[in-house]
Amino acid sequence: MGNQFCRDLKYIFRIVFMFFLLWVVFPVHVHGHSLSREIFFEETDHQLEVIRIKGEEPGLTVLIFGGIHGDEPGGYFSSEILPRIKLIKGNLIIVPRVNFPSIMLNRREVHGDMNRKFVPREKPDDPDAEVVKVLKGLMKEADVFINQHDAYGFHRETYISKMYNQYRYGQSLIIDCGNFYSQKLKKQVNLSVIGKRILERVNRQIKNKDHQFGFWDHNSVAKNTKFPEMKKSATYYALTTYSIPAFGLETSRDLPTLYHKVKYQLVVIKEILREFGLEFIPPSPTVATPVLYWVEFLKNQRDIIRVNSNTNLRLAPGDKIVIKKIFSNSDWGLSANILNWGSINDVNKEFVFEKIKNVTTILVKKNHLSIGKIYLRNYRKNSVREIILEVNGEQKRIPNWGKIDLRQGEYFKILKTYPEFPNIRFDVRGFSVRPGKRDDSDTEIYPKDLIPKVFV
Ligand SMILES: [Zn+2]
Repeated sequence: MGNQFCRDLKYIFRIVFMFFLLWVVFPVHVHGHSLSREIFFEETDHQLEVIRIKGEEPGLTVLIFGGIHGDEPGGYFSSEILPRIKLIKGNLIIVPRVNFPSIMLNRREVHGDMNRKFVPREKPDDPDAEVVKVLKGLMKEADVFINQHDAYGFHRETYISKMYNQYRYGQSLIIDCGNFYSQKLKKQVNLSVIGKRILERVNRQIKNKDHQFGFWDHNSVAKNTKFPEMKKSATYYALTTYSIPAFGLETSRDLPTLYHKVKYQLVVIKEILREFGLEFIPPSPTVATPVLYWVEFLKNQRDIIRVNSNTNLRLAPGDKIVIKKIFSNSDWGLSANILNWGSINDVNKEFVFEKIKNVTTILVKKNHLSIGKIYLRNYRKNSVREIILEVNGEQKRIPNWGKIDLRQGEYFKILKTYPEFPNIRFDVRGFSVRPGKRDDSDTEIYPKDLIPKVFV
């Protein structure tokens, strides 16, 4: 996928006021090749994002679920990277954050274990029911299914130690039955043979023997299975209801870093895709440290304001704010929670500010990771509320943190603040004070005079 930076696209410059400071940002555009993103239950806590990637040539469709358990980041971080694949043959359907509320809270489950809810009929009063219904629908479209997890220890055929034994789930590929006739693929599929072959190739790529994968047939289709609870799992449902090969893919929670989990998830997925005839150039398993740039709010249903991370947004009683958009180096899995108000994710909800004793915090997250905070506080006597500008000959009042768009050839000039303060100085970021001036006010400033600030 990759964010692409289009310098000359529009000549539109966005200028952000930060107290008396300015900087310029160029618009960023995303180019995808036959990639689509669909969002179900948008603006609810259980928002569900589905990514479909079509290869250049037809082939099987592999469905991948990440984050069915919220405290298993190997799954949901790797399935975010997977859309960077270049798919030549076959198709992918990726659901990176199956259980978004549990991811935001970094808990295995919120409304009970979602991986025990794949039964013929969902409970109507279950808050996860409509999500599970969509997920089942996706299984119907697929030819192969992978459910991603992280678990403790390292699975081995025999008992080696407390961490390496036949009871541990980490670093394992799990199937529900060894051999079955797939109605969907119209052939006999020996999952046992296929699974072992996949892991042979996987383990050849993992030099550290301690990190290699073990194979595990739960045989949960059998009446006397040792894992009867798996009869309610997603892989069991995909295999028995839609007659497609299904794999539980577990990396270990005991790997040293998130990077290891992501890397190993992607190695196994890569080999499963190869096994089923997909052709592709795999993505590199880079996990960028998430960074919050700013949060965009709609204030009093009129002004767009953009507030930097870890700063105060000062408000008057009765001011209304709506969190509109989070700007980060990633646009996946972002949420903002106004603490002690609303729900886990308060994006697009109207918050009416009342005079407060101390502070109300907005916590911004990517997946389970906190990436920044914005503090809501009362106006003080010396708070600047507005900056009064001349824009192309017209006077404009811009709220603090507000934003104006300028085209090439248009200018702005800083006049004063509201309220006015004595001895105030204006400093426009990326602009040098003109000779003979004490600061940047009362100067016509054009976008071309500014040093651009670029985010990639
Ligand atoms: Zn799990």
